[in-house]
Amino acid sequence: MDEAIAEAAKREAETNALYNALKHDSEAQVGAIMGPLMGENPDFREYGDQIAGVIAPVVEEVNAMSQEQRRERLAELAPEQLEELESEDEEEEQVLPDLPNAEAYDQVRMRMAPNPNGPWHLGSARMPAVIGTYKELYDGWMLCRFDDTDPETKRPDLDAYDQILDAIEYLGFEPDEVLRASDRLEIYYEHARELIAKGGAYTCSCPQEEFSELKNAGEACPHRDKDTDTIHEEFEKMVDGEYSEGEMVLRVKTDIGHKNPALRDFVAFRIIETPHPREEAAEYRCWPMLDFQSGIDDQLTGVTHIIRGIDLQDSAKKQRFVYDYFDWEYPEVVHWGHVNIDEYDVAMSTSTIKELVESGELDGWDDPRAPTIASLRRRGIRGGAIVDAMVELGTSTSNVDLAMSTVYSHNRNRIDDETDRAFVVRDDAEYGGGAVEKAVRGGPDTGNPLVHPEHEERGRREIPVHGGVLVEETDLPPEGDRVWLKGYGCVEHTDEGFEFVDADIELTREEDIDIVHWVPATDNQPVRMRTPDGDVSGYAEPGVREYETDEMLQFERVGFVRLDDQEDDCTVAYYAHR
Ligand SMILES: [Zn+2]
Repeated sequence: MDEAIAEAAKREAETNALYNALKHDSEAQVGAIMGPLMGENPDFREYGDQIAGVIAPVVEEVNAMSQEQRRERLAELAPEQLEELESEDEEEEQVLPDLPNAEAYDQVRMRMAPNPNGPWHLGSARMPAVIGTYKELYDGWMLCRFDDTDPETKRPDLDAYDQILDAIEYLGFEPDEVLRASDRLEIYYEHARELIAKGGAYTCSCPQEEFSELKNAGEACPHRDKDTDTIHEEFEKMVDGEYSEGEMVLRVKTDIGHKNPALRDFVAFRIIETPHPREEAAEYRCWPMLDFQSGIDDQLTGVTHIIRGIDLQDSAKKQRFVYDYFDWEYPEVVHWGHVNIDEYDVAMSTSTIKELVESGELDGWDDPRAPTIASLRRRGIRGGAIVDAMVELGTSTSNVDLAMSTVYSHNRNRIDDETDRAFVVRDDAEYGGGAVEKAVRGGPDTGNPLVHPEHEERGRREIPVHGGVLVEETDLPPEGDRVWLKGYGCVEHTDEGFEFVDADIELTREEDIDIVHWVPATDNQPVRMRTPDGDVSGYAEPGVREYETDEMLQFERVGFVRLDDQEDDCTVAYYAHR
């Protein structure tokens, strides 16, 4: 076979192997490449028995590359094939179902409507993740509206407004507009007046229990047929705060005999005497109920699609009565089930987390034990990893479980390649049995493991041995046995410590010698690792001091961490995942 044919075959095989390895994220096989190679290149056929031998080393090289290197190489050889792969990836990424009737609207407009009664727990990330993804898919519009119209039972937390906006940004989205419902009371009052004028609402002073009894019996209360002027007058007195709590409400006139009692003449406005914590809203006493407020706002902001929990089906039904009075079109609604995340000991509930933070049982909303966005962020989880995992859950009406391992695996894909490695020896009975010091005799002065196992070009670390090392107790072989100190070499465990053995790394395979991590016994860097299961202490290689706060490292065989605080005598690291 002449040189030109052999080169052509190698080139074809490399392209083919790169394509397949990228597509399936696995190693390419010579056998699998031979078929298409012969099929597409009749010139090769007469050398059929030699081609496999020629291309085998090429395929091996491809298999040794990282996905990133494969991508770069394929871009050089056959950019059109890389493009094809990337467009396939995009198709696969769209796991969300199409929005109902999206084509009927000039622009898809959606809103998230958080109650700012505390920073977000992890479940809250689902709404921005899904709405933000739809916004990107449809080139749509996204509103963040704070539904903060209950100053008493769901009392807003003044810090939470900004914390929630920060969380949305961390997840990778930016709302096109931000509104606070507590700024918009006059707008709701105006609509209440209009509704009264249309005969769609009445003021009612029935004690709650009395009204309930009448309602459950399908009977109207005496206030239902009040004349419009009186209703207007009484509503203005509500707005002016002239009634006390429970004395007067404004009801929407629906169908007093409706088969669902919850929909019979529901309350639209009530008096709350507790002042709103926002100064701008502190004077108001007459507050709309959530269903009234959000229904009005959805219309006024042109929302076309609402996503809400399946448990809130009555909301749409109530709001439709109001929409009918105004002759408005109700938006499209997608109802989804609840998302469970049960890997935390702390319940995923704003009020529970708030109590634990206030009592000091949690160090704050970003305590690694808290199922919150702030906690994941502090642990070095990228917002995009949470979004990927949430979007994969889809929007079905059944309840779904989010496995944290899915979030972690998305995060690993994002950070693995860029994250440097370091050794840490844990000093904890539960993990590794504790740090054990051993003198080292006869070996080199330093160990030189790679900065990143898949990137030789990023160089090697230099870890001084200073005549002794720490290893985890469970890594210690019985006396007389050997162990491989990673990046250093083979040592034999004797009664005096570790005796260096000049040996080939192949030994670890042939003789089943374990490779263990280690740190120098002196001049190491103490580490406190904060994990969802509690704190773990240990010692890291001294080079860890050189990294800045907020950088990620992979503690080999332990996991990825985010450096949270670099003090001279201790590195505080937040544990992300394996
Ligand atoms: Zn009444």
